[in-house]
Amino acid sequence: MLFNRVRPQYPITSYADVFGYNFGMKILKSNYLNYNKIGYYDFSEPKEDKKSSILNNLGIKNSDLNTIINKTAYIVEGAIIYSSGKRYEIIGEAKDRVEVSVELLKDAHIIHSHPLGESFSVEDILEVAQNQAKSIVAFNDIYIYKMTNNIQLKYEKFRDFVILTIDETEAMLQEKVKRGIITKSQKNFAINHKVWQAVSKKIKGFDYEAFKIKK
Ligand SMILES: [Zn+2]
Repeated sequence: MLFNRVRPQYPITSYADVFGYNFGMKILKSNYLNYNKIGYYDFSEPKEDKKSSILNNLGIKNSDLNTIINKTAYIVEGAIIYSSGKRYEIIGEAKDRVEVSVELLKDAHIIHSHPLGESFSVEDILEVAQNQAKSIVAFNDIYIYKMTNNIQLKYEKFRDFVILTIDETEAMLQEKVKRGIITKSQKNFAINHKVWQAVSKKIKGFDYEAFKIKK
């Protein structure tokens, strides 16, 4: 998700691998089963009928997901924002981009698609934290991610912790690539999820959930 204002001042160089990846659905489809085998996406195996109950438990409307899917077909990102009692539908510009005005974010609930299936981008989470949105969801047909924002930490401290965690996670996964345990595209797919898992263990009020809804 792209938020339309001047980018936050974080050091882009250490993010090259986070923002720089780009791979097609074909590679993703052939690889995603392997993530489970090697324990990268070690969510419990879903039953096909689990989707509704997971959505229900997360407070997500199936109809919102379907609206986004029907209007974007995973060709571009799409988002629905609940903000100040209003509901906004936004169609994105690319597979990894939907533009949302930051003015809508305060106390908002955001649902958006990630056609490639990866977890929240750094930008997603930092903008949610900085602008005090309540929750954000990212999904495709296989994965659903939800972050609920009750972070009490000052934004700058939270951001610095995220940056540190990215660098540590990047180094840890890079080592696995070097040793041939995972491929570079597996690393790129897994890194965001690994980062948010690590952040949720350390930061009170950062509640992160990830589910696999389809085999
Ligand atoms: Zn996103």
